[in-house]
Amino acid sequence: MKKNKNQTSLFESSQVINISLGPKSNYTDYDTYIHSPEWKAKRIIAFKYLGRKCHSCKSTKQLEVHHLNYENLFNESLEDVEILCNACHPVGDDIRATKKGYETWLRNKYGEWANHYDDEFEYEKFQNWKYRDS
Ligand SMILES: [Zn+2]
Repeated sequence: MKKNKNQTSLFESSQVINISLGPKSNYTDYDTYIHSPEWKAKRIIAFKYLGRKCHSCKSTKQLEVHHLNYENLFNESLEDVEILCNACHPVGDDIRATKKGYETWLRNKYGEWANHYDDEFEYEKFQNWKYRDS
């Protein structure tokens, strides 16, 4: 099982066994997929293993299954998702976008050596670069 470096959780979860949420779905379109019976079935599996509680604020109301990354979209495992309430979900989306931006920035800067430079120092440089105009 590969270690998922792109996991960007609001909550450092204790060890979660990585199991598939279900068979790979035959969709190419995100919106169709997210409203499909297949995704509904996968949501149920996600709630079953991850619990019916927001991983960030512990709310038990208006829960949603958040994609931590889109690497395995249509074929998610437990480590690709987390449970967030609808208030925390946008924060999770923002963290995912920032993480993706950081990875791209690092790769553009260091190419194949990007992983070797992935540390807090570089992340701070990325943040400075990201907000340089604001
Ligand atoms: Zn929440």
